[in-house]
Amino acid sequence: MSILVVGSVALDSVETPFGKRERALGGSATFFSFSASFFDRVNLVGVVGEDFPPEYVELLRSRGIDTRGLATLPGETFHWVGSYRYDMGQAVTHSTCLNVFERFQPEIPAEYRESGHLFLANIDPELQMDVLRRIERPRLVACDTMNFWIEGKRDALIELLGSVDVIILNDAEARQLTGQPNLVRAAKAIMEWGPEEVVIKKGEHGALLFGADSIFVAPAYPLEHIIDPTGAGDTFAGGFVGHLARAGKRDWKTMCRAAIYGSVMASFCVEDFSLDRMKTLTEEEISFRYREFIRLSRID
Ligand code: AMP
Repeated sequence: MSILVVGSVALDSVETPFGKRERALGGSATFFSFSASFFDRVNLVGVVGEDFPPEYVELLRSRGIDTRGLATLPGETFHWVGSYRYDMGQAVTHSTCLNVFERFQPEIPAEYRESGHLFLANIDPELQMDVLRRIERPRLVACDTMNFWIEGKRDALIELLGSVDVIILNDAEARQLTGQPNLVRAAKAIMEWGPEEVVIKKGEHGALLFGADSIFVAPAYPLEHIIDPTGAGDTFAGGFVGHLARAGKRDWKTMCRAAIYGSVMASFCVEDFSLDRMKTLTEEEISFRYREFIRLSRID
């Protein structure tokens, strides 16, 4: 089995109180793939422009990520410019230049079609739906979104939710999507549109996993140094879906463990800019931090 991800592959210019990076490797599919590659085989579908540095593709390949679905089109790569204030809670978007992304028509290579798990990373919900229509339904379909699409394509997003098993989004997005300030009610409202499980990420306060009649709280790791939160959400999703794919099951306990793996992976991502921390990550570090997470909230 393998995981198929369709999403943005980007150049990110990011400023945090701890420094800045210009045109660093980013994008929802990038962070997801890198994280999920520690758990299962990953097939990536996305698009870049002719300016995309070949060493960034090499970095993805070095993790065994299949990039045959990464198309190069004439023009410039999707470019996101954002910054964070001291609390690092919420990104402030300065500009979103879709560039080649505006003409993106996801092509799914034949070799990818048997992927058992699909992650529709943060892109236009109409494109997310288009991908779903064109492939045989995988065992699990998960998706993400963001304020940009909730504002511009809310109806398409709600339609998509009718075909999705799990949605992973942050607290602000859940409130914006449902118009419901209370997160428990927001999760219930989202489940009514389709998903059986809803994961609401709360940044440094961890994540909530909602099922039909259960709720699980995954803590966030109390890190002393957070350098750049960009990509934490997609990295969480990579650990979450990655664990489900590796486990090959979807019962509630497996879901709860997946939420912890999501938090583990996100906790590494934020320790440096772009993929700089993830690049040096080892399986041992992941296992060690997973055990730390369990210890964090156990009483005896
Ligand atoms: P997050 O995991 O939520 O921090 O996602 C960060 C990534 O989302 C960045 O690397 C951006 O390149 C990417 N991104 C920002 N805006 C958009 C958008 N409108 N559509 C797709 N990807 C985006």
